Amino acid sequence: MFVCQSYLRNRLIFGKSETIFRYFSTLDVPMKKFNDLKQFDQTLLLYDEYEKSHPALISNKVLTQVLKASTHLLDKHRSLTIAKKISLSSMNDTYLLASLIHMFIQFDQIGEAEQVFQQSRIRSQTMFLTMIKGYLKHEMVEQAFDLFEKITNPNEILLIQIFNTCAKLENQKALNCGRKFFEQMPIEYEKHQFLMNSAFNMFIKCGDSTFAERIFKKIPRFCIGYGRLMKIFNLEKQPEKTIDLYEQMKHDEIKPDRIIYLLLINACAQIGLKSICQRIVDEIPKDLLLDHPIQTSLIYMWGKSGSILKAEALFEKFFRPDAITYNSMINAYGLNGMVDKALELFHRMSKDIRDNYTFVCILNSCSHTGRVDQARRIFNEIPLKTQQIYTVMVDCLCRASLLEEAQQLIIQSELVNPPWLPMYMALLSSVRHQRDERLAEKIVQQMTKIFPKAEKGLISASVLLSNVYAMTGQLEKAETLRTNLIQSGKKKEIGLTWTELNGKIWKFRAHDKSHPQSSQIYEELDRISKELIEYGHEFHSNSITRSISSHETIQSVLCGHSEKLAIAFHFIQSTRPSHIQITENLRICEDCHAATKLIARIRQCEIIVRDASCIHHFDLNGNCSCQDYF
Ligand SMILES: [Zn+2]
Ligand SMILES: [Zn+2]
Repeated sequence: MFVCQSYLRNRLIFGKSETIFRYFSTLDVPMKKFNDLKQFDQTLLLYDEYEKSHPALISNKVLTQVLKASTHLLDKHRSLTIAKKISLSSMNDTYLLASLIHMFIQFDQIGEAEQVFQQSRIRSQTMFLTMIKGYLKHEMVEQAFDLFEKITNPNEILLIQIFNTCAKLENQKALNCGRKFFEQMPIEYEKHQFLMNSAFNMFIKCGDSTFAERIFKKIPRFCIGYGRLMKIFNLEKQPEKTIDLYEQMKHDEIKPDRIIYLLLINACAQIGLKSICQRIVDEIPKDLLLDHPIQTSLIYMWGKSGSILKAEALFEKFFRPDAITYNSMINAYGLNGMVDKALELFHRMSKDIRDNYTFVCILNSCSHTGRVDQARRIFNEIPLKTQQIYTVMVDCLCRASLLEEAQQLIIQSELVNPPWLPMYMALLSSVRHQRDERLAEKIVQQMTKIFPKAEKGLISASVLLSNVYAMTGQLEKAETLRTNLIQSGKKKEIGLTWTELNGKIWKFRAHDKSHPQSSQIYEELDRISKELIEYGHEFHSNSITRSISSHETIQSVLCGHSEKLAIAFHFIQSTRPSHIQITENLRICEDCHAATKLIARIRQCEIIVRDASCIHHFDLNGNCSCQDYF
């Protein structure tokens, strides 16, 4: 070490007159020292000095150092001259190959870099890493991705690069690849914090909450990590997990920030249960309750949970509401079937601040209450009609059974906009209600042709078509379609209902038997069914969209719907409820709607049901706020 320092110092002072042979037997050692000290000029001077006089000294190690120096100095000419001297066919030196690849990449000669990589007989992890970095530098993410297939047992550094690349791609292919590497990773790598963070980031970006959650438990937790996981739970429509995470955060004594509260409000809006919303609002610090985005989100949340008075109270506090605030309130009125109030607010709003979402909200509100004429008037005055606006208007016409006009509107939209799947779905939903199987078949055929890649949308369309078959008594056709879907591994969305009791969120699936009080719930459902029949209820067989097996009856199938299970669950508590609130992810079926109206009347219990479309307030007289227009 001491010898080495003396040489470097003397060389810098005396230049060429200081020979290396007094200190070293090889040339690469002083070169590496100079490179480490970023004295790249000195490395090149040494090379020039000994290249001709002592050609035997010019080893692969020397060329590696020279390439490093010339690349650092962006000396393209010299770098390429050196490269010409290297014979790839006879070379096994992965250090030199990595330097060569790096050099080509630095001078934007990605093709040459690729050539070196492809022709080399052995490939080190550094070579893979260098090549991947090169691809990423040139935005060739797919090519980088293809290289991953060839990597075995990557080290930590290479894994970080792989995870970062997958995070950048943000698609299913990247997720599968990232998952594979993560699962094959040696367990001791889990101690590597930076590596675990990059894996966490990748799973978040690619939308895999299960893996992200698994890693989250193993890394030091900060507010930002909680927020990112909450965001993905909200996106995946798992709001109860966001709220659980908030409880965990409190347990870990981590102070939530504004972003966390916004995410929590969003989760509460998704769950839409007043008691849960109130509990969270009570924990928001007072200064944050004055924050504009928080207030607007709260209006949205109260609207989604059927607490219109609370939404109104907040809205009235705004001296000069902006578009987002107005839209949240109009949306709240619309969801709760209060179209007159929504229209009043819409007309109070200055025309200058109305935006795309304003029109979507107001048209939606008209759509859910059958105000077709008012919707038409508003629609005709909209200066710039987007696909969303056309879709809501199509939906409005469909709900009023004006299918011809709706189809014409789709044609009109497609003169100026590309075709849009939700527009066809609105039409198909309506055709389902009309039970027009021919038209339903025609629409599904059209959709398959126009949107061949929209797998999720096409699954929903097939499910709707199979419902139409079932409703029109063609159970065989319905079953075939359903079997085809199952065989192709495509899953339809399952019906879920959430409710809250004693501070806990309960989730029910159709025919759920997992609840600890399941037998009591089914006994209560039997009692409810008897009462319903006494009051003249006839179970709607056309609400059944599948064939009935030998051990089932129309009544048992319909009583297994998740919303009925959740309602029965409330009635088996020691105190009879006077108020029940539930939220479901799909649209309520005709039978559940009719049954809930009667249950509210018989049991003298106000019931609020939020479905995928609107909020139904069932009163003690057995009426629903939607006036059966759903
Ligand atoms: Zn139902
Ligand atoms: Zn209703």
